[in-house]
Amino acid sequence: MRTQNQSTVGFYKEQGFAYVQADDVDGDPDDTFVDPGDPYGRTCAERHNQIYSLEDAQNIDDHPNGTLNWMPMPRGYKPETQPGGVPTDVPRTPDRSSPQVSGFDPSQWAGPTVKTGKGVNPVVAENANAHIRQTVMSMKGDTGEYVAKLYEANAKSVPQILNSRSRLFNRRDPATGKPMKAGGFYNNNTDIIRVATGNTEHAMTHEIGHQITSRSHLAKILGEKKAKQFAREIDDAYFDAIERRRINPNSSVVSDYGMKSVREYIAEGFHFAVQNPEKLAKVDPGLSKVMHKYLVGKKRVLIDDVPGFDAAAYTERLRQGARTPNVQVGGRVVSDDVARRNPIGIGG
Ligand SMILES: [Zn+2]
Repeated sequence: MRTQNQSTVGFYKEQGFAYVQADDVDGDPDDTFVDPGDPYGRTCAERHNQIYSLEDAQNIDDHPNGTLNWMPMPRGYKPETQPGGVPTDVPRTPDRSSPQVSGFDPSQWAGPTVKTGKGVNPVVAENANAHIRQTVMSMKGDTGEYVAKLYEANAKSVPQILNSRSRLFNRRDPATGKPMKAGGFYNNNTDIIRVATGNTEHAMTHEIGHQITSRSHLAKILGEKKAKQFAREIDDAYFDAIERRRINPNSSVVSDYGMKSVREYIAEGFHFAVQNPEKLAKVDPGLSKVMHKYLVGKKRVLIDDVPGFDAAAYTERLRQGARTPNVQVGGRVVSDDVARRNPIGIGG
């Protein structure tokens, strides 16, 4: 329909696309209707997979209940008939790597540029980028897309890696208030995530968990109503876990750290729903259920599933180039925000 069609086309124009491809798989071959706005006089079925300039596409009217969609062509695309075009090697598929277009595929997303602080081997940005992509790929479609869009639009919201010796990581224990050294933290006033060197594996997904479940983001991701439901269901799961522990101090929980506050319970729940979903389902089925209902997809995505990231090659490059002894990949956490001092069940 024209209004919807025009707003989609208008959006692509704003995003710098010049050509779109018609996607109308359900175009009925017996349907002979030709929209007067189609400069090539095509029927719906003939139009499927054809490429139009945005100007032409804008004038085409799908009929009521029509199934016509426009997919943007890559930004550099030039049609074959246009002088100076690049006809042969440009794939006629929409750019699914951009979170700004419909049909976004997180596995094709290059991920954000991660900033590294003073005294940090810049190579660690690659590992951080891979963990961000792994987390986004693990999330439910819309939720992951939200995070990708957030990072594309706001460089400030992209997690940063700072030297673990930075005083910024001197935090307070969420339960006791005693000083502790954190592996990462999220500031919900500035939307800034900072992860300490050597803590990407344990802290990155945890801190993204804080970010997306912060009040303003969660309401945008789920809508106000579902965000409230999420909070209620989390409270129930948390108090269940407290009660189980009260009755039996050895009963399994997401992690000791996750039992320090409901906020940490959520971040730990998100972390394990992404990084070790089978174990989370065992140690806290209630928490697992809430995480998968609202935020985390069913299919587990491993760091090795992130296209273009080779953990072994990365570790080797880091080892050769590292002058920062505190950088530790895949190592054990000694003391940080998500450290589990006496791990129960999962972690380690
Ligand atoms: Zn935390």
